Amino acid sequence: MSLVDDIRACRLCTARFAATRTGHAPRPVVWFRPGARILIAGQAPGARVHESGRPFTDASGERLREWLGIDAETFYDRDRIAIVPMGFCFPGYDAKGADIPPPPLCRATWHDRVMAELGQVELILPVGLHAIRYHLGHRGSLTAAVAGWRDHAPRVFPLPHPSWRNTGWLRKNPWFEADCLPVLRARVKELL
Ligand code: SF4
Repeated sequence: MSLVDDIRACRLCTARFAATRTGHAPRPVVWFRPGARILIAGQAPGARVHESGRPFTDASGERLREWLGIDAETFYDRDRIAIVPMGFCFPGYDAKGADIPPPPLCRATWHDRVMAELGQVELILPVGLHAIRYHLGHRGSLTAAVAGWRDHAPRVFPLPHPSWRNTGWLRKNPWFEADCLPVLRARVKELL
């Protein structure tokens, strides 16, 4: 079996997810092939992606595609773009209705193997603090990481999560859309 098949068959979090409010079963959303030049390193699937089995089939995905300046066909071309979240399965909701963070077990079990199989990607987009910590070893805040984008470009662009929950963050930090996104879009265009 390939690594992709191994991850799709993973059920390590069965008991953990059964104990959440949604009581769902694991459904790993695995979307990569070796050779992709761009890696989108997200957090974990939400409830809609858990249903669809395809990453970013939600409002977050629409916003992310707009940030990158690409259409859905390009975004879902696994030969060009790998989408590897820090948790491959929907983790469920907490008491406030927010998504539970991805289980650290997923990162520990799969991530180094996935990165080794992907090889040398030319652009890494860690989306949200969990992915930023893994890919940049960053220990500060999300805002500090994203504000320091020039320190990591053109290979890595740390991004906030494109969720509607971050609309307030985007308003408070207009430099992100004004300064960072045009440079990111140009880099994506160059690689595609
Ligand atoms: S979240 Fe990761 S470790 Fe847990 S069941 Fe899904 S693929 Fe396996």
